[in-house]
Amino acid sequence: MSRVFDHDDFAGHEQILHCRDPATGLKAIIAIHNTNRGPALGGCRMWPYASEADALGDVLRLSRGMTYKSAMANLDLGGGKAVIIGDPRTDKTEALLRSFGSFLQGLGGRFIVAEDSGTTVADIKIIAEQSDYVAGVADETTADGTLRSGDPSPATAQGVFVGIRAAVKQRLDRDDLEGLRFAVQGVGNVGYRLAGLLHENGARLWVTDLSDDQIERAVDEFDAQAVGPEEIFALDVDVFSPCALGGAINDRMLTQLRAAVVAGAANNQLTQERHGGDLMNRGILYAPDYVINAGGIIDISLELSGFDRDELVRRLDGIYDTLMEVFERAGNEQRPTAVIADHIAEERFSKQR
Ligand code: NAD
Repeated sequence: MSRVFDHDDFAGHEQILHCRDPATGLKAIIAIHNTNRGPALGGCRMWPYASEADALGDVLRLSRGMTYKSAMANLDLGGGKAVIIGDPRTDKTEALLRSFGSFLQGLGGRFIVAEDSGTTVADIKIIAEQSDYVAGVADETTADGTLRSGDPSPATAQGVFVGIRAAVKQRLDRDDLEGLRFAVQGVGNVGYRLAGLLHENGARLWVTDLSDDQIERAVDEFDAQAVGPEEIFALDVDVFSPCALGGAINDRMLTQLRAAVVAGAANNQLTQERHGGDLMNRGILYAPDYVINAGGIIDISLELSGFDRDELVRRLDGIYDTLMEVFERAGNEQRPTAVIADHIAEERFSKQR
């Protein structure tokens, strides 16, 4: 039996719903962390968790993270997340997704779901047959003028680009990126688009990825230099931009890092909380991950209010000021930027609105 209220990752969550439907094989957990600012919005992850306890730990952590992300982006949204226990390649059926949709509908709009690892826009459209409370499915023209079809990556990349400009201003006192050197770890959906924006703005690029095709695309299109996944950390660059998986900042990479700024799209960049302090002590400015990569949630949230592209661009530009507030407070208080970001988010979501 998994414990909830005294679970290590329980963070004052409002509601945790265990969903079970033997007819379709559905086993899911929906965690609503906080709805003080508005309905909880978050992805539905499908993953073959080794145990129910693993699934619970994941959904508790992820839902809490969504509250912080939305509060920092000044959205009228709270934080939540759903996990479906199962292998998305073999266990995902339309009946199972519809069953999940019925549970979602039963929450009456307290939780709004979008896609995540293991679920696709097509899956969310099936869930939408049973529930009014879905997002990230519409065909909209996003910040870079392309049609997003529910994919928030272009907005995420644009937001990270804006955030990088703020970090460069703060740490290097530069308003432009001309000639600055960037190491981009991971050139997938977000990293590739970000590399394009950096290139257009005169930056010099070094890129790595686990996929040779992804690397080749960035080398051909953006005049980037290709390096191996282990070489990316130690390059003599101005900015290191983690755009792959979480945990890029760890003890081993910190001994090699020469960049002045760490700013990228990946979630959960700090392997441990103390790494935020380690970066600060080395004079490296860290743009907290959930502040700089909020473009995706901003994009999805606007779908709920009819999607206004000018509003999207305005809100993505807002990431600049939010980060500047974090940097300034961190400097004044001599504390890590990640700690300051958490405090500002907590100030914003702890009050009932
Ligand atoms: P993606 O899967 O399209 O791209 C990630 C890329 O990183 C892949 O090409 C992969 O091969 C590469 N990679 C993985 N491990 C690597 C390693 N050790 N070294 C080098 N390359 C490696 O994912 P994405 O949608 O571009 O997201 C990138 C990151 O940004 C993720 O951490 C994601 O959680 C986060 N994020 C994405 C969005 C979004 O809108 N897509 C929003 C917020 C946060």
